[in-house]
Amino acid sequence: MATVYDHGGGVKSIQVPIPDNPLGHTLVYVVDTDRGPVLVDTGWDDPTSWDTLAEGLVACGTAPGDIHGVVITHHHPDHHGLSGTVREASGAWIAMHAADAAIVRRTRATRPGRWFSYMAAKLTAAGAPDAHVAPLRTAHRPSTLPGLSPAAPDREIVPGELLDLPGRRLRAIWTPGHTPGHVCLHLEEEHPARLPGHGRLFSGDHLLPEITPHIGLYEDPDDTTVTDPLGDYLASLERVARLAPAEVLPAHQHTFTDAPARVRELLTHHESRLTDLQALLAEPLTPWQLAERMEWNRPWSHIPYGSRNIAIAEAEAHLRRLVKLGRAEAVAGSEPVTYVASARPSL
Ligand SMILES: [Zn+2]
Ligand SMILES: [Zn+2]
Repeated sequence: MATVYDHGGGVKSIQVPIPDNPLGHTLVYVVDTDRGPVLVDTGWDDPTSWDTLAEGLVACGTAPGDIHGVVITHHHPDHHGLSGTVREASGAWIAMHAADAAIVRRTRATRPGRWFSYMAAKLTAAGAPDAHVAPLRTAHRPSTLPGLSPAAPDREIVPGELLDLPGRRLRAIWTPGHTPGHVCLHLEEEHPARLPGHGRLFSGDHLLPEITPHIGLYEDPDDTTVTDPLGDYLASLERVARLAPAEVLPAHQHTFTDAPARVRELLTHHESRLTDLQALLAEPLTPWQLAERMEWNRPWSHIPYGSRNIAIAEAEAHLRRLVKLGRAEAVAGSEPVTYVASARPSL
């Protein structure tokens, strides 16, 4: 049975399960328009998830074949996974920000082997030991893995503009950080229960009530730009706090109010993490050594292989931010590169 919730004002949500994942489910929102229902995200590409989405749509008084369009907050498979199936069932358009659409195109075009050699080179540069990197050099990604061939979007979400949703005012707010093309969607209509604030915000993974989204690097084998995803994320947080929505409708967990308070908690969390990392950099460390010494939800020795790669990306995102702020610097001539806290200017 699909769990469906009516948020009022022509917005409902369906809990679409993510198999074998502690997050549990994606909240797929169904927004009524004069041309038919539009979905915000679609859920994980799996037969059970699809059945739940289809059942949920019927419980919402519609059906997969009636969907007019699909608005995607970001390209991750728990959000964009079922978009292609929805389009096949209904002829719906799929809209996505250009930066995430570029990732989708690259994923569709890149051979897995290229991806593995790119990751191997990156991890080596981050100071990962050979034993950690070696499996990547011989790996072959199974072709059945979800997310390997994501649906190509057919419309672009342009930051600051209203989406073409007849009868609704839904504005795209670009919130890079979790991914380079992540968007939140601001429903600029009075809250159906007249809660104080400005409309409602579909926040994707950008702003969640009880968890902090992963902020790593924007991994792109074709792009050598030194990006600053954590800096992007912190700026994006301030952007949504300024909107002061009456209610936040996130893609996981549950809806909540007081977005500015949640933004403050997240800003404080990342600031204290940056301060802790700067203290660890009293001695020069590679990103790998830094990740080993950082605080995680379990000891480093218990963190499985795949999660270690995510942890390294998270450490590197924080390092980039510290360097950008002038609070740490790369040690000249170190190989692999090590970072050290910048000397405080003497008084
Ligand atoms: Zn995500
Ligand atoms: Zn997600």
